[in-house]
Amino acid sequence: MTDTPKSHGRKSITASLKPRDLMEDARLADTWTAQILTLFPQSFPGVLGESLTGRALKDGLWQLETIDLRPFGIGKHRNVDDTPAGGGAGMVLRADVLGAAIESAQSLVVNPLPLLYLSPRGRRFDQAMARRFSSGPGVTLLCGRFEGVDQRVLDHYSIEEVSLGDFVLTGGEIAAQAMIDATVRLLPGVLGNADSTEEESFSNGLLEHPQFTRPAEWQGRSIPDILMSGHHGEIAKWRRAQSEALTRKRRPDLWQAHVARNSDS
Ligand code: SAH
Repeated sequence: MTDTPKSHGRKSITASLKPRDLMEDARLADTWTAQILTLFPQSFPGVLGESLTGRALKDGLWQLETIDLRPFGIGKHRNVDDTPAGGGAGMVLRADVLGAAIESAQSLVVNPLPLLYLSPRGRRFDQAMARRFSSGPGVTLLCGRFEGVDQRVLDHYSIEEVSLGDFVLTGGEIAAQAMIDATVRLLPGVLGNADSTEEESFSNGLLEHPQFTRPAEWQGRSIPDILMSGHHGEIAKWRRAQSEALTRKRRPDLWQAHVARNSDS
């Protein structure tokens, strides 16, 4: 990787870096912050360092701190995991190791951030959650590995579990990046055009209408005439109709909720 910590506004925190050092450093108390507890800090910012989220990170519209779990490990080998109590395959991340890492993370911020564990058992992440997290001060995300984490850590810190979907990943890092991406793009100034989050999929409970751009004709397929007509009112109506038809067909669950909402009001 070519980036220095500064070039992406990211920080990697190890046990040796004391809170005081950070306070005096480039820490911005009012900036939306993602803290990531992970065994693989080098996997950040990953794709978040690209394009709009990357530009926003450089510009200080949000900040990213990775906290490496390894230095909190036990003994000479800094062990972070052990075999599951009761037997069975795989390894479980230790409560004492995670507890120390969580407390270190919390000591780095003025006000504690909501603490979340990426987990297939969690509530399914959605646009409403992205909005909720984007309207707060940030998030602290615990990325699991192996068979997951000791249950006592989740109970002790009342950690909210969030899932990316009904499938199993090998670790929480990709899920954390997906969540941060969806959340950060809702922060003011991150997308160039603020309108675009209002019209896109889910924002009004519907899937987005189809999009087209040049060339006007491609492989014998042309852009629908209405979009070339310049009649903004008619275009808006067409898009709305497309959006509704698509939602009804592909996502009956969203459609039902939409119909119920509109019949209430
Ligand atoms: N044994 C666990 C799965 C562990 S997968 C179970 O059956 O529930 C290893 C790690 O990957 C988890 O600790 C979690 O942090 C992450 N992970 C896996 N699937 C995920 C998903 N759908 N959403 C978010 N995180 C996930």
